[in-house]
Formats: sequence, structure tokens, C-alpha cells
Amino acid sequence: MAKLIDGKAISAALRSEIAAEVTELKKKGITPGLAVILVGEDPASQTYVRNKQKACEEVGFHGEQINLPATTTQEELLAVVRELNARTDIHGILCQLPLPCGLDDSLVIAAIDPKKDVDAFHAENVGHIMIGDQQFLPCTPAGVMELIHRSEIAVEGKHCVVIGRSNIVGKPMAMLLLQENGTVTICHSRTRDLAQVCRQADILVAAVGRAKFVTADMVKPGATVIDVGINRDENGKLCGDVDFAAVEPIAGAITPVPGGVGPMTIALLMKNTLTAAKQQNGLV
Ligand code: NDP
Repeated sequence: MAKLIDGKAISAALRSEIAAEVTELKKKGITPGLAVILVGEDPASQTYVRNKQKACEEVGFHGEQINLPATTTQEELLAVVRELNARTDIHGILCQLPLPCGLDDSLVIAAIDPKKDVDAFHAENVGHIMIGDQQFLPCTPAGVMELIHRSEIAVEGKHCVVIGRSNIVGKPMAMLLLQENGTVTICHSRTRDLAQVCRQADILVAAVGRAKFVTADMVKPGATVIDVGINRDENGKLCGDVDFAAVEPIAGAITPVPGGVGPMTIALLMKNTLTAAKQQNGLV
């Protein structure tokens, strides 16, 4: 039986460490502020934004939600970003993606001040991740690294296989594993003999977006299996990219869905906002 990596418990520990730091910062007159822009009324985006607002309240941040109608123009949206860039009480800014049709994600990401880009999507921050001197870590891959660290799983010298090469998960995930001296293979939809490549992994990270995609024959006995996916199965039940029931008996350690990587992403967003507030007040 695999060791279960409990993202709920680990994220709660991280959030309480952040809350303790916020208490100290408030004594210096600093309250970290996070602004979240939501354009339109996509129900999934509304839920994500609500959860971020709740997390802000729990750790003692000032959380500000800016709701804009789906009819907002590109220029109006950029004007909102510029206003937030200029505010000293807002240390972190994010725009919930995807944006409604007609609005360009990349223009919005480019407009956010890199010092306030707590999602770490701005090209300047992506560049820092490549070089390895990053200020902000992208939230989901950084959440995975926290899970690995706090579960005392060594990365150095291990063969790490990442399935998925998106800009928000797969690519930065591979860079963070590489920074810790893993030997990294990135797989994608054109990879030949995927199962055989995955079977070589000591650490297998699945970020595919397909329910139960990773099956038992793709996993080396004793491997650490990290499931980033958030999908619905044939019964509408939340599930990951890994066939948990089949893989769990083979793996050495595994994250569940829900309760694995998911809760870490928001915790890391809080951590980045705290870092941003400290930086903008000359404390780091
Ligand atoms: P994308 O759709 O942007 O990327 C999916 C990646 O999987 C692509 O690189 C694609 O390859 C690859 N892929 C698709 N099909 C196959 C296949 N048959 N074989 C091998 N590779 C394949 O997704 P994201 O990276 O944004 O997200 C991945 C998953 O993680 C989703 O389920 C998403 O919901 C979840 N997620 C979870 C978060 C969390 O907080 N837990 C946060 C963000 C995402 P190619 O590039 O060749 O098309």
C-alpha cells in the first residue's frame, strides 16, 4: 500500500504558518493585499475566485474581488490592471483565466506588474524560473514541490517524468524538479510509447486533464505518483488523471484527488502574496 500524501493537511499547515507571519507583519502596519479580477460569470471561475477570497480571509490578508461584466473591453480591463499596479495596499494581482471570448489573456498577463504577478505567469517571472532565481513560484508546481518536500521524498538523482507541457503546470513543474537535481523527462500527446517512459519514473507527475489516464502498467513499483488533474469521471464524480484504485497498490506514495495537489495551489498563492507584500515593503 502506498503512503498517502495528504494535501489537505499539508496545505493547512502551510496556511497556518502564513497566518502566523501575517500576524507579525500586521504589528509593523502591513496587511498583505491580493486583488482578484473576475470577468464574466463562468460558474467554475466564480467558485475558484470565491475560494481564493475565503483563503485570504483565513490567513488575515486583505482580499479584494473585482467583478467585471463579460462585455468589458480589453482597454477597460487593462485600465483596471494599471490602477491595481499603482496601489500600495495591493501587493498581488491575478486575473482569473480563461477570459471571455474577445479578451486576450496574454495582454492582461503582460500588463500586471511582475512584482505583483503572484501567479508567476508574466514572461519576466517565467524567465526567472528558467534561470532559477525566481521570486515567485508558479502556484500548482510549487504546491507539488511542497508536497514532495514535506513528505520527505528526495528528488536529487531521481528520474522524474512529467506528463503535460502546459505553461502553467507541465513546463514549470519540469523546471522545478530540474532545479532540485532530478533527471527530468517531459511527455506530451506526441510522446511515443508513453507507458514505457512513465514506467521508468521514480517520481511521476500527471498533468494531462484526462480522467484516470495513468493506469497501473504505467507505474514502476514504489514510485511516487503526483496527480495534478481535476476531472469528472463517467458518474460525474471528481477524479484525477491517475486511476487511483489501480495505481495505489503499486506506488510508494501517491496524492489523492480530491485532497492532494488541489488544496496546495491556493496555499501557494497565499505564500506568493505574502512574499510580494514583504518585498514591496523592503523586508526581503
Ligand atoms: P492543458 O490542457 O493545458 O495541458 C495538458 C497537457 O497534457 C498537454 O501538454 C498535452 O499535450 C498533454 N496530453 C494530452 N493528452 C495526452 C496524451 N494522450 N498523452 C500524453 N500527453 C497528453 O492542461 P493543464 O496543464 O492546464 O492542466 C492539466 C490538468 O491539471 C487538468 O486536469 C487541470 O484541470 C488540472 N489543473 C489542476 C490544478 C490544481 O490546482 N490542482 C491547477 C491547474 C490545472 P500537448 O501539449 O501535446 O497537447
